[in-house]
Formats: sequence, C-alpha cells, structure tokens
Amino acid sequence: MGSLKFYRGPEENNSDSHKANPLDPEEFRRQGHIMIDFIADYYKNIEEYPVQSQVQPGYLRKRLPESAPYHPEAIETILRDVHDHIVPGITHWQSPSYFAYFPSSGSIAGFLGEMLSSGFNVVGFNWMSSPAATELESIVMDWLGDMLQLPKSFLFSGNGGGVLQGTTCEAIVCTIVAARDQMLSRIGRDNIGRLVVYGSDQTHCAVQKASQIVGINPNNIRAIKTTRSTEFALSPELLRSTICSDIEDGLVPLFLCATVGTTSTTAIDPLGALCDVAKDYGMWVHVDAAYAGSACICPEFRHFINGVEGANSFSFNAHKWFFATLDCCCLWVKNPSALVNSLSTNPEYLRNKASDSMQVVDYKDWQIALSRRFRALKLWLVLRSYGVANLRNFIRDHVKMAKVFERLVGMDERFDIVVPRNFAMVCFRISPSALRKAPSDYDDENGIINNVNRKLLEAINASGNVYMTHSVVGGMYLLRCAIGATLTERKHIIMAWKVVQEHANAILSEYK
Ligand SMILES: *Cc1c(COP(=O)(O)O)cnc(C)c1O
Repeated sequence: MGSLKFYRGPEENNSDSHKANPLDPEEFRRQGHIMIDFIADYYKNIEEYPVQSQVQPGYLRKRLPESAPYHPEAIETILRDVHDHIVPGITHWQSPSYFAYFPSSGSIAGFLGEMLSSGFNVVGFNWMSSPAATELESIVMDWLGDMLQLPKSFLFSGNGGGVLQGTTCEAIVCTIVAARDQMLSRIGRDNIGRLVVYGSDQTHCAVQKASQIVGINPNNIRAIKTTRSTEFALSPELLRSTICSDIEDGLVPLFLCATVGTTSTTAIDPLGALCDVAKDYGMWVHVDAAYAGSACICPEFRHFINGVEGANSFSFNAHKWFFATLDCCCLWVKNPSALVNSLSTNPEYLRNKASDSMQVVDYKDWQIALSRRFRALKLWLVLRSYGVANLRNFIRDHVKMAKVFERLVGMDERFDIVVPRNFAMVCFRISPSALRKAPSDYDDENGIINNVNRKLLEAINASGNVYMTHSVVGGMYLLRCAIGATLTERKHIIMAWKVVQEHANAILSEYK
C-alpha cells in the first residue's frame, strides 16, 4: 500500500525532465557554480551560526516530507531547504570558534582536490583501473614520508610503502590483521585465542574495535594504566611486566599500539623505549599519531616521533590537522607484503597483465575494501598549493594560539592546566581551590569539582559561541580546547576565553 502511494502520479511522458542527462556538462557547469556560491557564502557567514548545533533529536523528520519526490526538483529549491533545514542541524566544524574533539581542518586545496577526485569518479582498486590514482598515491606518500623524516624503510624507495586509508580505525584493522597472520603462520592458526594486543588506558578505542574485528579474544586486549605523574604516557616498564605475566599465563604478545598525541590529552608514549621492549618479544608496533603526526613536519616538533624507526607501521590523519578534508588517513608500513599476504585476493575478473607482472602496486591488497577513492589528488593539491613552508607555518600558528590560550588560563588562579600542552590543545579545568566550601564537602572533592566543570562545559556549549569537548583522565573531568580550525584567529581565542570566564563566574557564584 505504502509503495503505491509513493509512485502514483502523472505519467512520466508528461514531463520533459526525464530527457536531461544526469551528467550533462553544461548543466553541471550551471549547477556547479550555484553550489560553489552556496558554499562560499556558507563560509562567509559561518560565524552567524551557533557552533554546536542546538537542535533536538528527531528535529529533521518533522520538517521533511515523508517520502522522496516523484518529480525532479530544482537545485535552487533543494539548496533553500539545505539552508532552512540542514544548516540548523550542522555542528560547524569549520567555524573559527570550533575547539572540540580534534580539528577537521579544511582548506581550499583540500576541498578542490576532493572535488576533482569526485569529478573523475574512478574506482582505483588496482593499478590498471586508473594508473594515475595508484602512482600518484605512492608518490605523495613518499613525499609526505620525507617531510616527516620517516626512516627510508617506510618509503617505497626503501622497500616499505605508504597507502591512503579512510580512517585510523581502518589502518589499525589492517595492521593488526597483518601482524596476526604473520604470527599465526609461525605458531599455528588455532592459537588465535592466545594473541594479546597492548596499549595504554589512553589508547584510542579504535584499537579495541580493530582487535575485536580481527578476532582477538576480548580478554586479551590490555589497556595499561597511566598516571598524571608521567603525563599519561605508557610506561615501558609496565608494558614489560604486563607482557611477562601474560607469557607466564601461556599467552602470546602480538601487537602494541603506541600513541603520539593521545585523544584525551595529547600524551606522548616513549616510542624508542617501547619499541625496544616489543622487539624482545617479536611484536608488531604501530604508531598512532592521528592528530599530532601533522606537527612532525616542523623540525621543532619532529622529536616527538623519535624512535619510530623501531616500529612496523605509522599512521596519521591528514583530515585532522593537515588541511585535507575527510577522509584521508596516511599509513606507512615497513613490510607491505605482510599487509598484502593478509588482504590480497585475485579473482579472475580483476586479472590483468600489469598485476601479473608484479611491477605495480595494487592498493586493493593494502586495505579492507576493494573499491577505493582517488584520495591522493586531494593530498597532492594540499601539498602543492601550500608547500612545506606554509603547511609548517599554519601548524606553528595554531600552536602559538594554543600558547595564548594556555597563558590566559594560567593567569586566572581559579583554573588549572591539567597537563602540560604539547601541541595545539590545552586541557584545563576549574581548580578545586576555586570552591569555597565547608571542609566536609571536600570528602568528595573530585565528585564536586567534576560536576562544576561538567556544568561549565554545558553552559559554554549551550551559548553557541564556542564549542569545546571534555575528557576524564585519572578521575579528573577536564575541558579540551583544541585549536586547529583553519579560520581561527587570535581574536577567536581571546573571545573563547572570555566565554569560559563568564560562564565560570556564573557557576562559581552558586558555590560560594
Ligand atoms: C582521532 C583519533 C583516532 C581515530 O581516527 P579515525 O580516523 O576517526 O579512525 C585514532 N587515534 C587517535 C590518537 C586519534 O586522535
């Protein structure tokens, strides 16, 4: 019944619109210009919107029709609805007052690269399916590896290689699969239940998800405790003792994910010492630098990945803080054949001379999916449009702005900086000493102070003026101010701090 309702209507031959080819070049030009104007206006007016969307769950179903239109609608009409109904439900990640999670830094080059990639709309699963897609990807991954001063062994020129994945989650699934199969081919496939994956309690949940996907026993995923005294970095001694006790229990250490720039506080695991431990047990080490990897193109920040030469793989998200729009995760491995051994397939319908000749990379064998986007174009445009010099300066500018915010927080004695700032994110909270309460109330100091900070964050975000998010580390609820939206300037930092102070005044006055 329902479907009858949807498709009843005047016969199709009453309308001319079915004749328009959906890929007519002149119509594309016309609508494309309208779309570019729409997006440019969006950026021009972006500060007029609340940064965090203020809509309630289910808001959109109330506003849109119950079924898809039977007749074509004009792009102008559709864009009016985007303006009226979609934009209110957008959280403006590109707003200059966006300080939540980590940035998703856009840029003209990233946007145009994405457009060009959609424009060609090729499906570059193997070399043959679009040679430029594969070759450009290998070239930009070598360029980028050079910029990060990765050891030659990670580059194609040194028998390693890089690949563009969608996200870090996928990159970690692929590396754990490679590590798993390498290990199981040594110790026998029926030992999968004995494999153990290690990280810290600050490691991104991507590792847990990836471990579950690849069949690691959920009881064998270790999140080793970190503390404030070591700035929430993974301790090599604790790693070793955890491994030893697992071995005593008959388990097999498989994989370590070390993080440079953890999500909660940008903590830095000591790569060199951790890789030394892992080496003693023949484990695969992956370095997850999803956010902070970008900064390592600056000589003054490169030391944060010292020790990476001992790892098996390294990844960072160019869609976070490297001006490439989502999605674009850069993954390098020292031993591509470990990936290929686990992920390759060779059906007849994909066979071709180039692949058979073993002279080419077939990236379908380096990732989960078969089909893949031409992401390298986007990265190539970013690298060429800005050059290493400007990319470094963009990042340095964000770090400088974070220092400004850090200084402002530091000047207000009611606030604490929770951990030292490493990159462009400041972790802070209202200090317990800002509460003037009867001594007995301090029994549950963290409970009270955490609630005060939670209220502060809610108030800040409800204002719509800025958007920040939180984390809890070592029992402390903290606010994260992550600077890196491309449009952010100093004045936005000053304004953000004013907003924080105003809401802190209001909340603290309740506790006096
Ligand atoms: C953002 C982040 C991730 C997850 O990245 P996706 O690309 O969304 O999978 C993983 N690790 C760290 C340290 C991150 O900051």
